Amino acid sequence: MPDERPILLEGGRVIDPSQSLDRTTNVLIENGRIAAYDAVATGAEEVIDAAGKIVAPGLIDMHVHLREPGGEEDETILTGTTAAVAGGFTSIACIPNTEPPIDTQASVEFIQHQAARADQCNVFVVACVSKNREGKELAEIGQLVQAGAVAFSDDGSPVYDAELMRRAIEYCQMFDKPILNHAEVRELTQNGVMHEGLVSLILGLGGMPAVAEDVMTGRDIALAEATGGRIHMMHVSSSGSIELIRRAKGRGVRVTTEVCPHPFTLTDESLRSFDSNFKMSPPLRGQKHVDACIAALADDTIDVICTDHAPHAREKKMRELDQAPFGIVGLETALGLVITRLVELGDLDWSAAIANMTINPARILGIDKGTLALGADADVTVIDPDVLWSVDPASFRSKSANTPFAGWKLRGRADTVIVSGRVKHRVSPGAARRVRAR
Ligand SMILES: [Zn+2]
Ligand SMILES: [Zn+2]
Repeated sequence: MPDERPILLEGGRVIDPSQSLDRTTNVLIENGRIAAYDAVATGAEEVIDAAGKIVAPGLIDMHVHLREPGGEEDETILTGTTAAVAGGFTSIACIPNTEPPIDTQASVEFIQHQAARADQCNVFVVACVSKNREGKELAEIGQLVQAGAVAFSDDGSPVYDAELMRRAIEYCQMFDKPILNHAEVRELTQNGVMHEGLVSLILGLGGMPAVAEDVMTGRDIALAEATGGRIHMMHVSSSGSIELIRRAKGRGVRVTTEVCPHPFTLTDESLRSFDSNFKMSPPLRGQKHVDACIAALADDTIDVICTDHAPHAREKKMRELDQAPFGIVGLETALGLVITRLVELGDLDWSAAIANMTINPARILGIDKGTLALGADADVTVIDPDVLWSVDPASFRSKSANTPFAGWKLRGRADTVIVSGRVKHRVSPGAARRVRAR
């Protein structure tokens, strides 16, 4: 955008793990790029006061369900990307379990076209591993890469067939693309609603045992190790899976993983409310698993914090617990939960938290994002680390409001969000006060 007015971010604490940078300075944005540090105002720029705030590379969420095409009553590419920007994300990767699924060049191009029309944040397309997401026949991986697919996943379902998975890993290796897998052995989770444990027993609800995740995580690690290819385990939630990944990384297996905010914030005790906003897959587990997630973030076993943003229209989540669909929205609460639960409590420092939401997912997806290096795309998230705000689902930009965090008081959120040098989101100065006055 060569005609945009330059922007000067003044006096912020710039934290960019990609350059091991953490210092207070001014950042000049010009022609859609990071143009200079330590710049001073000349009068030509739009000056944004970032004093007391954190200037980070634009956040990346590598696990978002945008629902379009086919699920427009839950979310559209426009509402989903608007929600992303409001939550501080400048880039997202969308998961292909739409209707129809994203398994052809034309469908990849449809997403890219709709994302360009929405003009909110960058959207990177994850395409299906298998044709029609049926788990039978490999999709046209080469053609999908050519169309711009950054990774492959049948999420919503696991890649069930081990032979298909092995060939997918081998094939993707030629393009250096990762397979993102939802690890769940379905024979072990049939009719499951929540984590299998004492609470499911007390409530009389069908259980989904941790071992269902662990068994497939172990399989995928073995396949990655045997082929030398890459595997990325999605939404890790069990202490057993985490330990398998930790050991595999230790011996050089090309495995990476991600965690959502809910598994390090909530436990299966929440299901005592019978509220379907606590129903997700993998399910909320016990405290041992929560602790394992936090420890794995601290020792870098977990690489990425993502949302698994899974919007569902109100009438679907209103059904009985066993009928309601799995999943919750996450784009507009993730940053606040990371700050409140991890940074404020001292489990993760700012630099590590930001790395998990910027350069780490960028490297896994092989995209030129997640950095404030000179010349990089000017995707920037200015974070207000101190503001205390209430989660109000009625104010979500997402089309759906299925969150378990309604009414929670969170510390910190995105204040100003810049995509390619253009301000896409700004919290009005009065907004924080309005929340407090309520
Ligand atoms: Zn999944
Ligand atoms: Zn998902």
